[in-house]
Amino acid sequence: MRKIQLLALVFTLAISGFSQQNTKGFTLVIHGGAGTILKKNMTPEREKAYMAALDSALLTGYKILEAGGSALDAVQATVMVMENSPLFNAGKGAVFTNEGKNELDAAIMDGFTLKAGSVAGITTIKNPITAARAVMDKSEHVMMSGKGADLFAAQQGCEVVDPSYFYTEDRFRGLQRAKERDANKVDSSNAGLRNPLHRDEKYGTVGAVAVDKQGRLAAATSTGGMTNKKWGRIGDAPIIGSGTYANQQVAISCTGWGEYFIRLVMAKSIADRMEFGKQSLKDAAHQLVMVDLPKLGGDGGLVAVDKNGNISMPFCTEGMYRGFIRSNGQKEILIYK
Ligand code: ASP
Repeated sequence: MRKIQLLALVFTLAISGFSQQNTKGFTLVIHGGAGTILKKNMTPEREKAYMAALDSALLTGYKILEAGGSALDAVQATVMVMENSPLFNAGKGAVFTNEGKNELDAAIMDGFTLKAGSVAGITTIKNPITAARAVMDKSEHVMMSGKGADLFAAQQGCEVVDPSYFYTEDRFRGLQRAKERDANKVDSSNAGLRNPLHRDEKYGTVGAVAVDKQGRLAAATSTGGMTNKKWGRIGDAPIIGSGTYANQQVAISCTGWGEYFIRLVMAKSIADRMEFGKQSLKDAAHQLVMVDLPKLGGDGGLVAVDKNGNISMPFCTEGMYRGFIRSNGQKEILIYK
């Protein structure tokens, strides 16, 4: 009899342990872009401003996750905070195209349902990530671009602004410098590509990934793209599987030289290495970002979280604005290598 009681107790404990695992903690990881971010080029004030902006983004997402909100809502709200800051190359603060315009890309993906939405080359929606969410929730499509995407988002109630809203002096000067460098180029062969403008001018894409209390994953990325990009150029951020991806195992948001991320199908390649190659998130992300990406000639980084709350934030540039927060309050914000 005693033995049976003991067995019952062990069984009950096992069950409660299991359900505890099902409602485990949450994790949110963010980036504010990768690039030539060197301490020697940073003033203490500017560094403080970045830290504060990243902190407020993390806390925004934390509150949603803490209250039992979804990873999807958390990554969207987190990205919006960074879109509203002129410090990052997304929303207010986006870089300029060769024509002196701001064309914005964004994507969001719900790993639980594999639903996704993205927009490319939009010019009038204050928070591009809300336009991506509208495409996901309110259209039968996954990706919309240009005028059509602007119009659709406006119809769905996303806040509309005049394109001049995206003007910032800093980014405009960045475009002038990029053009000057271009004009002074001696070697016209492939120099523009081999000596990427974005190394100096363009870091600041933003992204967030999260796993919520229920174990659901989501990813979101928003960017102005690359300084001096040609009209109509679309980067990796809005391409599901390249710059942004989430499934039931992992959520990933990338930043870097978009053309290379597209060619490596960066985010999905990592997810596949985990699923089919049984690699850990750490190993899979390391292979893609630290080996495959530089080998091809690209650079950048990413943030990722898996369903167990393991995080990865690799980058092969000088720095990447990044940070994470967990349900137990553990928080870290980093900039340099
Ligand atoms: N990946 C973005 C793009 O190529 C730029 C960035 O991350 O800074 O559009």
